[in-house]
Amino acid sequence: MYPLIRKGKYYHYRTWLSYFYLILFFAGPFIRIGGHPFLLLNVLERRFVIFGQVFWPQDFFLFVLAMLAGIVCVVLFTIAFGRLFCGWICPQTIFMEMVFRKIEIWIEGDHKKRKKLDDGPLTREKILKKTAKHLLFIILSFLISNTFLAYIIGSENLIRTITEPVNRHWVGFASIWIFTAVFYLVYSQVRELVCTVICPYGRLQGVFTDKHTLGIAYNYERGEPRGKLSHKDNTLKGDCVDCGLCVDVCPTGIDIRKGTQMECVNCTACIDACDYVMAKINKPLNLIGFYSEEMIVEKKKPAFTSRMFGYSSVIVILLAVLTFFVLQRGDVDVTIMRAGGMLYQEQPGGYISNIYNADLINKTDKPQNIRLVATDPSIIIKYIQPSGVLEKEGSAKAIFFLMMPSVKIHKAKTDIRINIVQQNKVLGTISTTFIGPTNDD
Ligand code: SF4
Ligand code: SF4
Repeated sequence: MYPLIRKGKYYHYRTWLSYFYLILFFAGPFIRIGGHPFLLLNVLERRFVIFGQVFWPQDFFLFVLAMLAGIVCVVLFTIAFGRLFCGWICPQTIFMEMVFRKIEIWIEGDHKKRKKLDDGPLTREKILKKTAKHLLFIILSFLISNTFLAYIIGSENLIRTITEPVNRHWVGFASIWIFTAVFYLVYSQVRELVCTVICPYGRLQGVFTDKHTLGIAYNYERGEPRGKLSHKDNTLKGDCVDCGLCVDVCPTGIDIRKGTQMECVNCTACIDACDYVMAKINKPLNLIGFYSEEMIVEKKKPAFTSRMFGYSSVIVILLAVLTFFVLQRGDVDVTIMRAGGMLYQEQPGGYISNIYNADLINKTDKPQNIRLVATDPSIIIKYIQPSGVLEKEGSAKAIFFLMMPSVKIHKAKTDIRINIVQQNKVLGTISTTFIGPTNDD
Protein backbone atom coordinates (compact mmCIF):
# COMPACT_ATOMS: atom_id res chain seq x y z
CA MET A 1 0.00 0.00 0.00
CA TYR A 2 1.12 3.54 -0.73
CA PRO A 3 -1.36 5.58 1.31
CA LEU A 4 -1.32 9.34 0.86
CA ILE A 5 -1.03 11.30 4.11
CA ARG A 6 -3.59 14.11 4.35
CA LYS A 7 -3.17 15.78 7.72
CA GLY A 8 -6.38 16.89 9.39
CA LYS A 9 -8.03 17.22 12.76
CA TYR A 10 -8.12 13.48 13.49
CA TYR A 11 -4.60 12.88 12.23
CA HIS A 12 -3.33 15.45 14.75
CA TYR A 13 -5.36 13.86 17.58
CA ARG A 14 -3.94 10.45 16.68
CA THR A 15 -0.42 11.83 16.51
CA TRP A 16 -0.64 13.29 20.02
CA LEU A 17 -2.26 10.14 21.35
CA SER A 18 0.47 8.02 19.75
CA TYR A 19 3.19 10.13 21.44
CA PHE A 20 1.51 9.36 24.75
CA TYR A 21 1.30 5.62 23.98
CA LEU A 22 4.87 5.42 22.74
CA ILE A 23 6.26 7.15 25.84
CA LEU A 24 4.13 4.85 28.00
CA PHE A 25 5.21 1.74 26.07
CA PHE A 26 8.96 2.43 26.21
CA ALA A 27 8.92 3.80 29.77
CA GLY A 28 6.45 1.18 31.09
CA PRO A 29 8.96 -1.47 32.24
CA PHE A 30 10.93 1.16 34.17
CA ILE A 31 7.96 2.87 35.87
CA ARG A 32 7.53 1.71 39.47
CA ILE A 33 4.35 1.92 41.55
CA GLY A 34 4.97 1.10 45.23
CA GLY A 35 8.24 -0.60 44.26
CA HIS A 36 6.56 -2.82 41.63
CA PRO A 37 6.68 -2.46 37.85
CA PHE A 38 3.79 -0.63 36.22
CA LEU A 39 3.13 -3.70 34.06
CA LEU A 40 4.77 -7.14 34.09
CA LEU A 41 3.37 -10.19 32.31
CA ASN A 42 5.71 -12.95 33.42
CA VAL A 43 3.91 -15.88 31.83
CA LEU A 44 6.90 -18.15 32.51
CA GLU A 45 6.54 -17.85 36.31
CA ARG A 46 2.79 -17.00 36.20
CA ARG A 47 3.53 -13.75 38.02
CA PHE A 48 1.71 -10.66 36.78
CA VAL A 49 1.87 -7.03 37.85
CA ILE A 50 -0.86 -4.71 36.57
CA PHE A 51 -0.74 -1.04 37.56
CA GLY A 52 1.65 -1.98 40.39
CA GLN A 53 -0.68 -4.69 41.78
CA VAL A 54 1.11 -8.05 42.03
CA PHE A 55 -0.83 -11.16 41.00
CA TRP A 56 0.79 -14.40 42.17
CA PRO A 57 0.02 -17.88 40.83
CA GLN A 58 -2.45 -18.10 43.78
CA ASP A 59 -4.21 -15.00 42.41
CA PHE A 60 -4.45 -16.50 38.95
CA PHE A 61 -8.26 -16.48 39.09
CA LEU A 62 -8.09 -12.68 39.49
CA PHE A 63 -5.85 -12.40 36.47
CA VAL A 64 -8.24 -14.61 34.48
CA LEU A 65 -11.14 -12.47 35.74
CA ALA A 66 -9.29 -9.32 34.61
CA MET A 67 -8.69 -10.87 31.18
CA LEU A 68 -12.35 -11.89 30.87
CA ALA A 69 -13.48 -8.40 31.95
CA GLY A 70 -11.06 -6.95 29.39
CA ILE A 71 -12.49 -9.15 26.60
CA VAL A 72 -16.09 -8.32 27.57
CA CYS A 73 -15.19 -4.60 27.64
CA VAL A 74 -13.66 -4.81 24.15
CA VAL A 75 -16.71 -6.72 22.82
CA LEU A 76 -19.21 -4.28 24.36
CA PHE A 77 -17.14 -1.31 23.23
CA THR A 78 -17.12 -2.75 19.70
CA ILE A 79 -20.89 -3.31 19.68
CA ALA A 80 -21.41 0.32 20.65
CA PHE A 81 -18.52 2.15 18.98
CA GLY A 82 -17.22 -0.18 16.25
CA ARG A 83 -13.58 -0.91 15.56
CA LEU A 84 -12.25 2.33 17.04
CA PHE A 85 -9.81 0.29 19.15
CA CYS A 86 -7.91 -0.78 15.99
CA GLY A 87 -7.21 2.68 14.63
CA TRP A 88 -6.60 4.49 17.89
CA ILE A 89 -5.30 2.07 20.53
CA CYS A 90 -3.94 -1.10 18.89
CA PRO A 91 -0.09 -1.11 19.04
CA GLN A 92 0.04 -2.60 15.53
CA THR A 93 -1.64 0.47 13.98
CA ILE A 94 0.17 2.94 16.24
CA PHE A 95 3.60 1.58 15.35
CA MET A 96 2.73 1.01 11.68
CA GLU A 97 1.11 4.34 10.89
CA MET A 98 2.73 6.64 13.42
CA VAL A 99 6.29 5.31 13.50
CA PHE A 100 7.30 3.04 10.62
CA ARG A 101 5.16 4.80 8.00
CA LYS A 102 6.55 8.20 9.04
CA ILE A 103 10.14 6.92 8.74
CA GLU A 104 9.29 5.55 5.30
CA ILE A 105 7.83 8.87 4.16
CA TRP A 106 10.79 10.76 5.64
CA ILE A 107 13.30 8.64 3.67
CA GLU A 108 11.43 7.73 0.48
CA GLY A 109 9.03 10.64 0.08
CA ASP A 110 5.27 10.83 -0.51
CA HIS A 111 3.09 8.01 -1.87
CA LYS A 112 3.89 8.73 -5.54
CA LYS A 113 7.65 8.87 -4.95
CA ARG A 114 7.53 5.67 -2.91
CA LYS A 115 5.67 3.81 -5.65
CA LYS A 116 8.01 5.17 -8.33
CA LEU A 117 11.03 4.10 -6.28
CA ASP A 118 9.66 0.57 -5.81
CA ASP A 119 8.69 0.19 -9.49
CA GLY A 120 11.92 1.75 -10.80
CA PRO A 121 15.30 0.11 -11.56
CA LEU A 122 17.95 -0.55 -8.93
CA THR A 123 19.79 2.77 -8.86
CA ARG A 124 22.34 4.08 -6.34
CA GLU A 125 19.63 6.28 -4.83
CA LYS A 126 17.27 3.31 -4.43
CA ILE A 127 19.98 1.20 -2.73
CA LEU A 128 20.86 4.04 -0.35
CA LYS A 129 17.25 4.83 0.56
CA LYS A 130 16.20 1.21 1.00
CA THR A 131 19.30 0.41 3.07
CA ALA A 132 18.74 3.44 5.34
CA LYS A 133 15.06 2.61 5.77
CA HIS A 134 15.56 -1.06 6.57
CA LEU A 135 18.46 -0.28 8.90
CA LEU A 136 16.24 2.10 10.86
CA PHE A 137 13.43 -0.49 10.82
CA ILE A 138 15.80 -3.12 12.29
CA ILE A 139 17.05 -0.72 15.01
CA LEU A 140 13.48 0.19 15.93
CA SER A 141 12.39 -3.46 15.91
CA PHE A 142 15.34 -4.22 18.21
CA LEU A 143 14.22 -1.48 20.63
CA ILE A 144 10.61 -2.71 20.55
CA SER A 145 11.81 -6.29 21.07
CA ASN A 146 13.86 -5.33 24.16
CA THR A 147 10.95 -3.38 25.63
CA PHE A 148 8.53 -6.21 24.88
CA LEU A 149 10.84 -8.69 26.63
CA ALA A 150 11.14 -6.33 29.61
CA TYR A 151 7.35 -6.62 30.05
CA ILE A 152 7.78 -10.41 30.31
CA ILE A 153 10.95 -10.87 32.38
CA GLY A 154 11.18 -7.44 34.07
CA SER A 155 13.56 -4.56 33.38
CA GLU A 156 16.24 -5.79 35.86
CA ASN A 157 16.42 -9.19 34.14
CA LEU A 158 16.53 -7.52 30.73
CA ILE A 159 19.47 -5.33 31.80
CA ARG A 160 21.25 -8.44 33.13
CA THR A 161 20.56 -10.24 29.80
CA ILE A 162 22.07 -7.36 27.84
CA THR A 163 25.07 -6.62 30.04
CA GLU A 164 26.18 -10.06 31.24
CA PRO A 165 27.89 -12.75 29.09
CA VAL A 166 25.61 -14.33 26.48
CA ASN A 167 26.15 -17.91 27.74
CA ARG A 168 24.46 -16.97 31.06
CA HIS A 169 21.32 -15.67 29.35
CA TRP A 170 21.22 -17.40 26.01
CA VAL A 171 17.40 -17.89 26.16
CA GLY A 172 16.85 -14.15 26.77
CA PHE A 173 19.45 -13.27 24.14
CA ALA A 174 17.82 -15.55 21.54
CA SER A 175 14.37 -14.18 22.45
CA ILE A 176 15.53 -10.61 21.77
CA TRP A 177 16.65 -11.51 18.27
CA ILE A 178 13.61 -13.70 17.51
CA PHE A 179 11.27 -10.85 18.57
CA THR A 180 13.38 -8.38 16.57
CA ALA A 181 12.99 -10.53 13.45
CA VAL A 182 9.22 -10.89 14.01
CA PHE A 183 8.67 -7.15 14.54
CA TYR A 184 10.86 -6.28 11.55
CA LEU A 185 8.93 -8.69 9.29
CA VAL A 186 5.57 -7.42 10.58
CA TYR A 187 6.36 -3.73 10.03
CA SER A 188 8.40 -4.04 6.84
CA GLN A 189 6.61 -6.85 4.98
CA VAL A 190 3.32 -8.06 6.48
CA ARG A 191 2.03 -4.58 7.43
CA GLU A 192 -1.73 -4.02 6.86
CA LEU A 193 -2.25 -7.78 6.29
CA VAL A 194 -2.06 -8.12 10.09
CA CYS A 195 -5.29 -6.10 10.33
CA THR A 196 -7.05 -7.32 7.20
CA VAL A 197 -6.18 -11.03 7.18
CA ILE A 198 -4.46 -12.22 10.38
CA CYS A 199 -6.16 -10.41 13.28
CA PRO A 200 -9.19 -12.43 14.54
CA TYR A 201 -10.71 -9.33 16.15
CA GLY A 202 -11.09 -7.71 12.73
CA ARG A 203 -12.79 -10.79 11.34
CA LEU A 204 -15.37 -10.76 14.15
CA GLN A 205 -16.66 -7.30 13.29
CA GLY A 206 -19.58 -8.64 11.31
CA VAL A 207 -20.79 -10.48 14.41
CA PHE A 208 -20.43 -7.52 16.77
CA THR A 209 -21.79 -4.62 14.77
CA ASP A 210 -25.32 -3.78 13.65
CA LYS A 211 -27.26 -0.79 12.35
CA HIS A 212 -26.95 0.96 15.73
CA THR A 213 -23.15 0.71 15.91
CA LEU A 214 -21.23 3.95 15.51
CA GLY A 215 -18.30 3.72 13.12
CA ILE A 216 -16.53 5.38 10.24
CA ALA A 217 -19.10 5.55 7.45
CA TYR A 218 -19.85 7.39 4.24
CA ASN A 219 -23.14 9.26 4.36
CA TYR A 220 -24.45 7.90 1.06
CA GLU A 221 -27.80 9.67 1.50
CA ARG A 222 -25.91 12.94 1.24
CA GLY A 223 -23.08 11.89 -1.09
CA GLU A 224 -24.98 10.05 -3.83
CA PRO A 225 -25.33 10.29 -6.75
CA ARG A 226 -21.66 11.07 -6.84
CA GLY A 227 -20.00 12.85 -9.74
CA LYS A 228 -17.21 15.22 -10.73
CA LEU A 229 -17.85 18.95 -10.35
CA SER A 230 -18.59 20.43 -13.75
CA HIS A 231 -19.90 23.79 -14.94
CA LYS A 232 -21.39 22.14 -18.04
CA ASP A 233 -23.28 19.35 -16.28
CA ASN A 234 -26.14 20.85 -14.26
CA THR A 235 -27.81 17.59 -13.21
CA LEU A 236 -28.46 17.46 -9.50
CA LYS A 237 -25.73 15.51 -7.76
CA GLY A 238 -24.82 14.48 -4.24
CA ASP A 239 -21.92 16.02 -2.32
CA CYS A 240 -19.33 13.38 -3.27
CA VAL A 241 -17.22 14.79 -6.12
CA ASP A 242 -15.68 11.37 -6.74
CA CYS A 243 -12.16 12.71 -6.23
CA GLY A 244 -10.96 9.37 -4.80
CA LEU A 245 -8.97 11.04 -2.02
CA CYS A 246 -10.65 8.92 0.66
CA VAL A 247 -9.36 5.81 -1.13
CA ASP A 248 -5.86 7.25 -1.65
CA VAL A 249 -5.37 7.87 2.07
CA CYS A 250 -6.72 4.53 3.28
CA PRO A 251 -3.90 2.41 4.79
CA THR A 252 -5.82 -0.79 4.05
CA GLY A 253 -6.72 0.27 0.51
CA ILE A 254 -10.52 0.16 0.73
CA ASP A 255 -13.23 2.46 -0.57
CA ILE A 256 -15.41 3.39 2.39
CA ARG A 257 -18.12 4.49 -0.03
CA LYS A 258 -18.85 0.80 -0.66
CA GLY A 259 -20.09 0.52 2.93
CA THR A 260 -18.61 -0.74 6.19
CA GLN A 261 -15.96 -3.32 5.46
CA MET A 262 -14.02 -5.79 7.58
CA GLU A 263 -10.72 -4.22 6.45
CA CYS A 264 -11.60 -0.79 7.88
CA VAL A 265 -9.52 -0.14 11.00
CA ASN A 266 -11.40 3.09 11.84
CA CYS A 267 -8.23 5.14 11.51
CA THR A 268 -10.28 8.21 10.40
CA ALA A 269 -7.80 9.10 7.62
CA CYS A 270 -10.70 9.18 5.13
CA ILE A 271 -12.64 11.62 7.34
CA ASP A 272 -9.69 14.05 7.28
CA ALA A 273 -9.31 13.62 3.51
CA CYS A 274 -12.99 14.15 2.74
CA ASP A 275 -13.27 17.10 5.15
CA TYR A 276 -10.38 18.70 3.26
CA VAL A 277 -12.30 18.28 -0.02
CA MET A 278 -15.61 19.49 1.45
CA ALA A 279 -13.90 22.61 2.84
CA LYS A 280 -12.43 23.32 -0.60
CA ILE A 281 -15.81 23.12 -2.37
CA ASN A 282 -17.69 24.93 0.43
CA LYS A 283 -19.85 22.01 1.48
CA PRO A 284 -20.57 20.94 5.04
CA LEU A 285 -17.93 18.66 6.58
CA ASN A 286 -18.51 15.06 7.68
CA LEU A 287 -19.62 13.51 4.41
CA ILE A 288 -17.53 10.70 5.86
CA GLY A 289 -17.79 10.68 9.64
CA PHE A 290 -18.85 8.78 12.73
CA TYR A 291 -22.26 7.42 11.78
CA SER A 292 -24.41 4.44 12.48
CA GLU A 293 -26.52 3.05 9.64
CA GLU A 294 -29.54 4.25 11.58
CA MET A 295 -28.18 7.82 11.72
CA ILE A 296 -27.65 7.91 7.94
CA VAL A 297 -31.03 6.47 7.01
CA GLU A 298 -33.17 8.12 9.70
CA LYS A 299 -31.07 11.30 9.80
CA LYS A 300 -30.80 11.24 13.56
CA LYS A 301 -28.16 13.30 15.33
CA PRO A 302 -25.31 11.36 16.98
CA ALA A 303 -26.15 10.88 20.61
CA PHE A 304 -25.12 8.84 23.58
CA THR A 305 -28.01 6.43 23.21
CA SER A 306 -29.57 4.35 25.96
CA ARG A 307 -27.99 1.29 24.33
CA MET A 308 -24.51 2.78 24.61
CA PHE A 309 -25.32 3.84 28.15
CA GLY A 310 -26.36 0.24 28.92
CA TYR A 311 -23.14 -1.26 27.52
CA SER A 312 -20.98 1.39 29.20
CA SER A 313 -22.74 0.64 32.53
CA VAL A 314 -21.94 -3.08 32.18
CA ILE A 315 -18.27 -2.19 31.56
CA VAL A 316 -18.22 0.05 34.67
CA ILE A 317 -19.87 -2.69 36.79
CA LEU A 318 -17.35 -5.30 35.58
CA LEU A 319 -14.44 -3.03 36.41
CA ALA A 320 -15.96 -2.22 39.82
CA VAL A 321 -16.34 -5.95 40.65
CA LEU A 322 -12.76 -6.59 39.61
CA THR A 323 -11.47 -3.64 41.67
CA PHE A 324 -13.41 -4.95 44.69
CA PHE A 325 -11.78 -8.39 44.42
CA VAL A 326 -8.33 -6.87 43.92
CA LEU A 327 -8.70 -4.65 46.99
CA GLN A 328 -9.97 -7.60 49.05
CA ARG A 329 -6.73 -9.52 48.51
CA GLY A 330 -4.57 -10.00 51.58
CA ASP A 331 -0.88 -9.11 51.75
CA VAL A 332 -0.08 -12.61 52.95
CA ASP A 333 -1.40 -15.85 51.53
CA VAL A 334 -1.40 -18.91 53.80
CA THR A 335 -2.52 -22.44 52.92
CA ILE A 336 -2.69 -25.10 55.62
CA MET A 337 -3.05 -28.83 54.88
CA ARG A 338 -3.07 -31.72 57.30
CA ALA A 339 -0.14 -34.06 56.52
CA GLY A 340 -1.43 -36.85 54.31
CA GLY A 341 -1.44 -40.50 55.38
CA MET A 342 -1.30 -39.73 59.11
CA LEU A 343 -3.92 -39.96 61.79
CA TYR A 344 -3.34 -38.51 65.25
CA GLN A 345 -0.57 -38.83 67.82
CA GLU A 346 -0.91 -39.08 71.58
CA GLN A 347 1.21 -36.48 73.36
CA PRO A 348 2.24 -36.12 77.02
CA GLY A 349 -0.02 -34.00 79.24
CA GLY A 350 -3.27 -35.36 77.81
CA TYR A 351 -2.91 -33.82 74.36
CA ILE A 352 -3.72 -35.28 70.94
CA SER A 353 -1.81 -33.89 67.98
CA ASN A 354 -2.07 -33.71 64.16
CA ILE A 355 0.74 -32.69 61.82
CA TYR A 356 0.14 -29.87 59.33
CA ASN A 357 2.06 -28.36 56.38
CA ALA A 358 1.70 -24.64 55.72
CA ASP A 359 2.65 -22.64 52.60
CA LEU A 360 3.12 -18.95 53.32
CA ILE A 361 3.51 -16.28 50.63
CA ASN A 362 4.42 -12.66 51.28
CA LYS A 363 2.89 -10.58 48.46
CA THR A 364 4.31 -7.29 49.72
CA ASP A 365 7.68 -5.67 49.13
CA LYS A 366 8.48 -5.68 52.89
CA PRO A 367 9.56 -8.61 55.10
CA GLN A 368 6.69 -10.05 57.16
CA ASN A 369 6.79 -11.83 60.51
CA ILE A 370 3.72 -14.07 60.59
CA ARG A 371 2.42 -16.18 63.46
CA LEU A 372 -0.29 -18.82 63.36
CA VAL A 373 -2.58 -18.84 66.40
CA ALA A 374 -5.56 -21.15 66.95
CA THR A 375 -8.76 -19.26 67.80
CA ASP A 376 -9.35 -21.78 70.62
CA PRO A 377 -6.74 -20.82 73.27
CA SER A 378 -6.56 -24.40 74.56
CA ILE A 379 -5.03 -25.54 71.24
CA ILE A 380 -1.22 -25.32 71.13
CA ILE A 381 0.88 -24.96 67.98
CA LYS A 382 4.31 -26.59 68.24
CA TYR A 383 6.63 -26.08 65.24
CA ILE A 384 8.72 -28.90 63.75
CA GLN A 385 9.91 -26.49 61.02
CA PRO A 386 9.06 -22.79 61.53
CA SER A 387 8.62 -20.53 58.49
CA GLY A 388 10.86 -17.79 59.91
CA VAL A 389 10.55 -14.20 58.67
CA LEU A 390 9.04 -14.08 55.19
CA GLU A 391 11.29 -12.17 52.81
CA LYS A 392 9.73 -9.50 50.60
CA GLU A 393 7.77 -11.17 47.78
CA GLY A 394 9.06 -14.44 49.22
CA SER A 395 7.48 -17.71 50.20
CA ALA A 396 8.23 -20.29 52.91
CA LYS A 397 7.00 -23.60 54.21
CA ALA A 398 6.26 -24.54 57.81
CA ILE A 399 5.50 -27.89 59.48
CA PHE A 400 3.85 -27.98 62.90
CA PHE A 401 1.83 -29.99 65.41
CA LEU A 402 -1.60 -28.80 66.43
CA MET A 403 -2.12 -30.11 69.96
CA MET A 404 -5.61 -30.28 71.37
CA PRO A 405 -6.51 -31.44 74.91
CA SER A 406 -8.06 -34.89 74.54
CA VAL A 407 -10.95 -33.88 76.82
CA LYS A 408 -12.11 -31.43 74.14
CA ILE A 409 -12.29 -34.06 71.43
CA HIS A 410 -15.79 -35.50 71.07
CA LYS A 411 -15.82 -36.67 67.43
CA ALA A 412 -13.48 -38.08 64.80
CA LYS A 413 -13.22 -34.78 62.89
CA THR A 414 -13.26 -31.45 64.66
CA ASP A 415 -13.40 -28.16 62.76
CA ILE A 416 -10.81 -25.69 63.97
CA ARG A 417 -9.86 -22.18 62.97
CA ILE A 418 -6.39 -20.65 62.87
CA ASN A 419 -5.69 -16.91 62.82
CA ILE A 420 -2.89 -15.46 60.68
CA VAL A 421 -1.34 -12.85 62.97
CA GLN A 422 1.15 -10.14 62.13
CA GLN A 423 2.37 -8.37 65.27
CA ASN A 424 -0.99 -8.13 67.06
CA LYS A 425 -3.11 -7.73 63.97
CA VAL A 426 -5.22 -10.62 62.64
CA LEU A 427 -4.81 -10.64 58.84
CA GLY A 428 -7.19 -13.51 58.21
CA THR A 429 -8.54 -16.81 59.47
CA ILE A 430 -8.20 -20.30 58.00
CA SER A 431 -10.42 -23.30 58.66
CA THR A 432 -9.10 -26.83 58.80
CA THR A 433 -10.00 -30.14 60.43
CA PHE A 434 -8.45 -32.05 63.30
CA ILE A 435 -8.62 -35.82 63.58
CA GLY A 436 -8.87 -37.32 67.01
CA PRO A 437 -9.88 -40.54 68.74
CA THR A 438 -13.56 -41.18 69.34
CA ASN A 439 -15.04 -43.04 72.29
CA ASP A 440 -14.99 -46.23 70.19
CA ASP A 441 -11.17 -46.07 69.71
S1 SF4 B 1 -12.98 12.15 -0.44
FE1 SF4 B 1 -15.12 12.66 -0.16
S2 SF4 B 1 -15.63 13.66 -2.04
FE2 SF4 B 1 -13.75 12.61 -2.47
S3 SF4 B 1 -14.41 10.61 -3.27
FE3 SF4 B 1 -14.16 10.37 -1.08
S4 SF4 B 1 -16.23 10.72 -0.29
FE4 SF4 B 1 -16.21 11.56 -2.35
S1 SF4 C 1 -11.90 3.33 5.34
FE1 SF4 C 1 -11.22 5.21 6.36
S2 SF4 C 1 -11.23 4.72 8.53
FE2 SF4 C 1 -11.34 2.80 7.42
S3 SF4 C 1 -9.21 2.15 7.28
FE3 SF4 C 1 -9.67 3.26 5.39
S4 SF4 C 1 -9.07 5.35 5.83
FE4 SF4 C 1 -9.14 4.31 7.78
